[in-house]
Amino acid sequence: MLKLFNTLTRSKEEFIPINGMNVLMYSCGPTVYNYQHIGNLRTFFFEDILFRVLKYNGYKVRYVMNITDVGHLVSDQDEGEDKMEKSAKQLGKSVREIADHYTEIFKRDIGLMNIYPPDVYSKATDYIQEQIDLVKCLETKGYTYFTSDGVYFDTSKFPDYGKMAKLDISGLKEGSRIEFSEEKKNITDFALWKLSPENEQRQMEWDSPWGKGFPGWHLECSAMSKALLGNHFDIHCGGIDHIPIHHTNEIAQSEACSGEKFVNYWLHGEFLDMGNEKMSKSSGKFVTLQTLMDKGYTPMHYRYFLLMAHYKKKLKFSYEALDAAKSGYNNLSGKILNLRKDISSDEAISSSEKKNDFKSRFLEKINDDLNMPEAMSVLWEMLKDGDLSSNEKINLAYDFDMIFGLGLESVQPEKIETDIPEEIRILTEKRNEAKKKRDFKSADEIRDEIKQKGYEILDTKDGIQIKKSD
Ligand code: AMP
Ligand code: ZN
Repeated sequence: MLKLFNTLTRSKEEFIPINGMNVLMYSCGPTVYNYQHIGNLRTFFFEDILFRVLKYNGYKVRYVMNITDVGHLVSDQDEGEDKMEKSAKQLGKSVREIADHYTEIFKRDIGLMNIYPPDVYSKATDYIQEQIDLVKCLETKGYTYFTSDGVYFDTSKFPDYGKMAKLDISGLKEGSRIEFSEEKKNITDFALWKLSPENEQRQMEWDSPWGKGFPGWHLECSAMSKALLGNHFDIHCGGIDHIPIHHTNEIAQSEACSGEKFVNYWLHGEFLDMGNEKMSKSSGKFVTLQTLMDKGYTPMHYRYFLLMAHYKKKLKFSYEALDAAKSGYNNLSGKILNLRKDISSDEAISSSEKKNDFKSRFLEKINDDLNMPEAMSVLWEMLKDGDLSSNEKINLAYDFDMIFGLGLESVQPEKIETDIPEEIRILTEKRNEAKKKRDFKSADEIRDEIKQKGYEILDTKDGIQIKKSD
């Protein structure tokens, strides 16, 4: 039984799709005015794990992710510049060029991270009519009002507003130091359609029944999920920062228009921080996947690093922690390479009790709200098990890797040898020389020295292999 933590109820619930084995899933995608940093990638990685776990359980998943290329303003108060327009101005490019450039890098990075792409990437600018129609629907039902800069959603008309986020609205009013437009009726009201400023020519603007302008940021996800998945669907996810505003507003708009429940399961991934600071694009303090690769790490080292933490736990990024993940990954790759050498082609595909036991323990962990650290422990325990044959081990490792996505089936020897410290390489050379001179005593002594430093030398038929000891 698959259990997922639902932000709506703040509890782990059994996952029951609306339509049998077919699952409809939506994730809030990137705002493409800048690079997606490794924090953003943590969220997309968690969504990938969810997608993989659903598939592993036999569900057929229709997966939609939006690309925000308009309307996301610098401030959450519906004020300030549009992030896309601001970035385009700074870089002297058109908004379209900026959006296409960063979308391409985002797609490359998730490919490198072995993150499955969704079935549909939907761009906000491709769904302007659907967004206008949604505002019209809300207008007809009496949820909207005008201010001098656009059409707003009146949150006091939607009784369940802020329920998922458990917002204390009266506390917000009293405690808030946020300046909010005097024309807004309630502090939580938000823009559905913003009018283009009179004194400024925007690159992205469209005609609408209310005047030339652009959609409020929250609108796109409600309009596109409705167009691509329907009014009511199974899973919606994103980073934890989306709970109080973005997702709260999506729920209000969608349910106010359709009169139906919007989403059954809301899943949110915790943040990746950099030391004690938030990693954020707007502050400019962030690390990209490319930065990691330039420093000699591979996307799989970063994926392994992410697997070590549960998605609902805050994770601190540091190069020391990434180094630990790198050796963990290299160790695992070394094990896989050794197993590949050991397997015998004539062993019948067996299904021993022990093998089944490991498989069911693994399933139990991944189905317990995607518990990757514990699923990884099952993998390691299985690899060290004394009773399983090499064939059984490698089959199980490849099977588990359908979830981990570490690309174990394509691990190559040269990929792990780059991680060996210089000191160990020099000692290995010395040992080779001693062996050539048939000085086996020195060769053995050097092997012991290497062992004391935490490495093992294996004389294989393909030559020498060095690997970290377990
Ligand atoms: P954005 O491009 O800002 O719209 O963000 C894309 C996704 O990354 C959203 O689901 C955010 O919630 C998520 N996100 C933003 N910052 C972080 C972070 N530091 N750690 C994890 N996820 C993040
Ligand atoms: Zn969204």
